[in-house]
Amino acid sequence: MGIAKILIVDDRLENLLTLESLLDAPDIDPIRATSGIEALGLTLDHDFALVLLDVQMPGMDGYEVAELMRGNKKTKHIPIIFITADFRGEAQVFKGYESGAVDYLFKPLDEMVFQGKVGVFIELFRQREALHQKTRELDRKLVELEEVQQQLEETNERLRLLSTTDGLTGLLNKRQFDAIFDEEWMRSVRNKSPLSLLTLDIDDFKSYNDTYGHMAGDDCLKKVAFTLSEVARRYADKVARVGGEEFTVLLPDTEVEGAQYVAEMLREAIFELAIPHVGSRIADCVTTSIGVSTLIPGREDAKRALLEAADVGLYRAKEKGRNRWCYEATDSLRPSCTAALFFPERGDE
Ligand SMILES: [Mg+2]
Repeated sequence: MGIAKILIVDDRLENLLTLESLLDAPDIDPIRATSGIEALGLTLDHDFALVLLDVQMPGMDGYEVAELMRGNKKTKHIPIIFITADFRGEAQVFKGYESGAVDYLFKPLDEMVFQGKVGVFIELFRQREALHQKTRELDRKLVELEEVQQQLEETNERLRLLSTTDGLTGLLNKRQFDAIFDEEWMRSVRNKSPLSLLTLDIDDFKSYNDTYGHMAGDDCLKKVAFTLSEVARRYADKVARVGGEEFTVLLPDTEVEGAQYVAEMLREAIFELAIPHVGSRIADCVTTSIGVSTLIPGREDAKRALLEAADVGLYRAKEKGRNRWCYEATDSLRPSCTAALFFPERGDE
């Protein structure tokens, strides 16, 4: 427990000495002032538990000191006990309370009464200090707690991203894509809306890695991934990296024509990246082949048919010379959609 400082203010030395002798205790530190001005100065430099204030002083009297203390933010809550030899009746007592006194003591001081009253204020001071201390600790703990909470949220977010995205490209990973594909499938079943799927891979990517090294290979994958997500940018469109140089694009609410249009946009955008690829068999830059499939989901086994049709489309695109897309109808839609061909110079249904 700390020392309680008490400011004793009196213009007469003998009175100060009397007060000091009454306050003689190891946990009390009496600090003297012989004038109102000096007292005010000291209140700004110390945290006092209590002020014992003589009323009659030359110059600034006790009431003025009390009034000025009440007007100052730092000192307005310090309790004051007026000490006076002069009992002039209730009017004066009232004046003291108005200026902020919390108590009166009359000279000659009764030791028991004096120490009883001072003891109460010291106890109040200590309780207030303890409360402040606890409040500060709580504030600190609260800040710590908020920091921990923040770290936890960041960690969770990182974990969520790690478990749902591909570390290299930031696209969805295969697992998350499968989950989204299931959701979109169910939604399409409910809405009887078409669902399109593109399966895409980079042509002759093995030879790209062999020629330029794996670091360059990773850079190439990142550029392609970025381009895919830039082109397939509707909110519902989902782009995933599902293998080394393999990507999948899911296009909900998209008819055959729309899927073919997107496929051509993707093929063109990646071609226009003009990433040099001397090992390519079909161009001097990086190109892609894309399989396209579309259906209106119905039976659960048609889900596999959609995936397989896109894979077959990709296979055919490769076979036909790469750097193109190829639409493959699922059995359920065949043959009604096989006529769709929008980009005959590059795509092939
Ligand atoms: Mg005096």
